[in-house]
Amino acid sequence: MSEDERRHAATCLGELVESGIGVFCWCNRCGHNAELAIETLLGQLGPDFPVPEVGARLRCSGCGSKDIATRPAWPGLGQVTRHD
Ligand SMILES: [Zn+2]
Repeated sequence: MSEDERRHAATCLGELVESGIGVFCWCNRCGHNAELAIETLLGQLGPDFPVPEVGARLRCSGCGSKDIATRPAWPGLGQVTRHD
């Protein structure tokens, strides 16, 4: 695992609030994907909840699967979302 991957894997919700980014979710069954607002997740799970664990609490709105992958929605993968 690279240094970059380790940093992403260890990210908790509270760190995303500081960065102002959300959580990107991907359904492993049907490929449905969405970005969740960090404020919503923080209110439900708290700032110390690890981002990779968020998927275990979700269910796909497309197919109903609970096999959901989650990662921080880091900007820079094709488009810049904000500059502050
Ligand atoms: Zn799905």
